[in-house]
This record gives sequence, structure tokens and C-alpha cells, in this order.
Amino acid sequence: MSIEIIKGENDMPTEIPTRATFMLFGGTGDLALRKLYPAIFNLYKKGSLSTHFALVGLSRKALTDEEFRAKIIESISSETDDKAQAEEFASHFYWKSHDVTNTDHYKELGKIADELDQKYETDGNRIFYVSLAPRFFGIVAKNLKEQGVLSTNGGFNRLVIEKPFGRDYASAKELNDELTSAFNENQIYRIDHYLGKETTQAIPVIRFGNPIIEAIWNQNYIKDVQITLAEKLGVEDRAGYYDTAGALRDMIQNHTLQIVSYLAMDEPNSFVDTEIRREKVKALESMEIYDADGVKQNFVRGQYGAGDGTPAYRDEPGVPHDSNNNTYAAGKIVFNNPRWGKTPFYIRSGKKLATKTGRIDIEFKKPIVDIFAKGTHQPAELKSNVLTLLIDPKIGITLEINTKNSAQGMHTETVDLSYLQSDARAAEVPLPYERLFHDILKGDGTYFASWAEVAAAWKYVDPVQKLWDTTQPDFPNYESGSMGPKAADELLARDGNSWYFPNK
Ligand code: NAD
Repeated sequence: MSIEIIKGENDMPTEIPTRATFMLFGGTGDLALRKLYPAIFNLYKKGSLSTHFALVGLSRKALTDEEFRAKIIESISSETDDKAQAEEFASHFYWKSHDVTNTDHYKELGKIADELDQKYETDGNRIFYVSLAPRFFGIVAKNLKEQGVLSTNGGFNRLVIEKPFGRDYASAKELNDELTSAFNENQIYRIDHYLGKETTQAIPVIRFGNPIIEAIWNQNYIKDVQITLAEKLGVEDRAGYYDTAGALRDMIQNHTLQIVSYLAMDEPNSFVDTEIRREKVKALESMEIYDADGVKQNFVRGQYGAGDGTPAYRDEPGVPHDSNNNTYAAGKIVFNNPRWGKTPFYIRSGKKLATKTGRIDIEFKKPIVDIFAKGTHQPAELKSNVLTLLIDPKIGITLEINTKNSAQGMHTETVDLSYLQSDARAAEVPLPYERLFHDILKGDGTYFASWAEVAAAWKYVDPVQKLWDTTQPDFPNYESGSMGPKAADELLARDGNSWYFPNK
């Protein structure tokens, strides 16, 4: 049974457009063409960018401005039918052939930035977006500073870094040291596109905006928390990258632990990035780091075999036939803090699972005494209240509560209070990269990972990766189209729990 709650539509506040010159390294890359230009275009359409902006696309390719602009128009074609508007937007785009290791190229870029600053009156504001292979992140930051590309006339300089941010704590620290030799921490925006998603951004409001929820958000009332980021797709054409990363690095260290931090953190004094980051770090640093035995007991890895008429991971194009890479990872997080002491957070993410879903299921404890189970009545057993936050593909919130069944006599049943975003409203929701670009323009680091958060997440994940790198798995251990290895069910069963989804 389901009771629909109708939610009103909010008026969007208007805002003052930001002036800026963007410099986009990897300007013809897959990410730029598929995600970044449409995101910038939507901000332009909605007025967050005015006519006072320009973008310089950079990579080794030799393109004319006209050729680059044609790519931009193609890239935003699904966002508009207005040819004149698309052309006006694209006229702000310039191309510069650039090799990241060539210092002269940066000097030339600095001159172009000065000219564009004058032409578009951008107040000297500069956004450097590094959408390149990770090995280039550090060298770009260093050269931007050393070759004088940073604005020095009072405008802002912001550096945007794509994922992955390191392969372990040591490499992440090395990268961060390189970046911070050129930029301050508050100028660095580490992208985690899960933080641009509607539901992730809603977590603090759902918690701290509702005393009825925050009052019970602790180990006294919450039995366990479950986070599932499941993909139906396999490795597709990304074997080169994915086989060296795996689910633990690709999904758990960043996206999943970021979601954990919003769910687990204490209430910040105010909703500003510095305060929020402080609380997120505190939460991440209070996760118990496992030794090898702890990893064996509390983490599960998996690799998909054939199923649903599709090949096993090891038979996918580009994947070595003896690959021991994890395409699935699950774990039990335990916090050493007063809020969560006894409440486990179960996390899992994998490829080739039964369904594509991103969701958080929060299971509450049952009443200490079930008074309905006594006396002359024969009611159904009371179920745990479950609050579910749906991230993907549907956005929504559901709450299961126990009530009386309307039949004669005293019987209980569970009903679902649910708010599912309508398709019409979902179509209006800005895409993650659009939200994140908006925040970069406004200088708001709330939905970006700080270095302290990234460091804490790597320190947590490193012992797991280390054990997995040095011990032989029995792969493949789950069928394509299933919900992952049996061991992940046993992980919860040992605590007397089970995955709420899809078994509820
Ligand atoms: P890509 O390979 O499609 O593009 C990389 C770009 O770098 C190209 O424009 C290439 O010409 C340029 N380049 C390579 N070597 C260069 C050099 N020496 N000097 C100057 N330019 C050089 O990569 P992508 O898929 O667009 O990914 C870019 C970044 O975004 C990576 O860090 C990746 O991990 C991250 N990312 C991508 C996606 C995605 O969906 N594509 C998703 C998440 C994160």
C-alpha cells in the first residue's frame, strides 16, 4: 500500500551571473563533450553566466576556433533547438593547441587569458578545469603557477580536478602536495559527481531540517544503514582504466564514502563549506580502520562471471583472462564515536548487478516490546521502520511505517509513505555537472571533497586494497544479473541483518 505525498514546486531564485574565463584542459575529451559543455550551456541559458565569459579549450590537437565551436554546437545539440542561441554561446569559445609539458604553451595561454579578460570584462576571474588523465593533474597546476597563468589583478583562481584523486593514500598525498604548491586548498575543487546529485545534496536538509528525523539519527534508534550503488552495465569499453582500479577505488573510496560522510556527520554550526567539511572529516576519521583480519571479516570482493547471455568480466574486451580485479565490493563500516557506536553501515557497489540503482536504506529498531504480539490478537509481526533515500535512477524518499490493517480485528500492516519525484519535475533537475559548475562559479566548496576527506577515505580503504592485492581471490564469484556474491549476504547475516533491497 502506498500513500502519495504531493510536494509543491519551488520558485527558483534569481542570481547575479558570475564573470569568468574558463581554461579547459582536455577540451575535446569524452567528458568535456558529453558532460561539461552541456552543463556550462545550461548555466548560460539559466543566467548563471552572462555575456562576460569565455572558454579556452586545450589539448594537443590543432583546431581552429571555428572547428572547436562546431564541436561545441554539436555537444549542446540535445539541450537546445535555438540555433542563434547556440551560436552566440559557442562564439565565447576559443581553441589553443597545448602540450601540458611545454612551458612556452602556458606563457602563450597566459597572454590569451589576459586578452579574453579584457574583451569579455571577466574581472580577471579564472577557472582551470583539468579533465585530463590523472598523471597530468600535478604538472598542469605547477605550470599554471610557475608560468604566470594565474590571475594577479584581484580576480579569483579556481582549480578543478577530475577523478581519480590518487590510487592510494601515498599517491593522493603526492598529488595533493603538487597541487597545493600552486593553489590553496580553498581554491581547489575536487570533483565527485555523486555530490552533484539531488539526493546527496538533500541529505543534510532531510537530517538537519527535520527535528523528527535528526532526533532519532543515532545508534539508539537506527539498527543499520545500507548504501547500494549498483550498475547493470559491465566494464564496457573502459577496461584499460577499470582493470587497474576496480570497484573499491572507482566507487567505494570516493562516492560511497562521501555519501557515508553526509549520513554520519554531526550537525555543523551553519551550512557553509568550511563547517560542513569539518564535520564530514570528523565522521570519516572515526571509522574503525581494519587490520588484515578485520578486512577479511568485514569486506567482500567479487568479480562477475557470465550470466544473462553476457560474458564474464575476464572475457570482456581488453581484460586479461587471469584478471583478479574486483568488479564488486561490499563492506561493513563501524564508527568509533558516540553517535554510531553500535550501528553498522553496510556499503556495496558493483557492476553487472540485477538492476541499476543508487539508494540508501536506513533500518530503524523495532519497539523494545511488541505489545501487539500479546493478548488475544494474532497480528502480523511488526516490521522495522525503513527510511529510503533514492538517488538513482528515480529520486525520492520513502518511509515504511506500521499501522493497523483496516480489516475487522486488531491486525497490523506496513504502509509505505512515498515521495517520488514526478517525471516532469525530474526533467527540471539540473544535472550533477551543472550543479557543480554553478558552485565553482559561486566559490562554494560544500559539494566538493576536501583534502582531509580524501585522505581519511584513502587511509580507510588502503588496508582493504592491500589485502586484496596480496591474496588470491576465487573469481568469478557472482553471476551477471545477480545482486553480487553470497559472501556479501553472509556479511550481514552474521549480525542478524539482511540487505533490505531487493528483498524487503
Ligand atoms: P579523454 O581521453 O577522452 O580525453 C583526454 C584529453 O586529454 C583529450 O582531449 C586529449 O587530447 C588530452 N591530452 C592527452 N594528453 C595530453 C597532453 N600531453 N597535453 C595536452 N592534452 C592532452 O578522457 P576523458 O574521458 O574525457 O577523461 C578526462 C578526465 O575525466 C580523466 O581524469 C577521467 O578520469 C575523468 N572522468 C571521465 C569520465 C567520463 O565519463 N569520460 C567520468 C569521470 C571522470
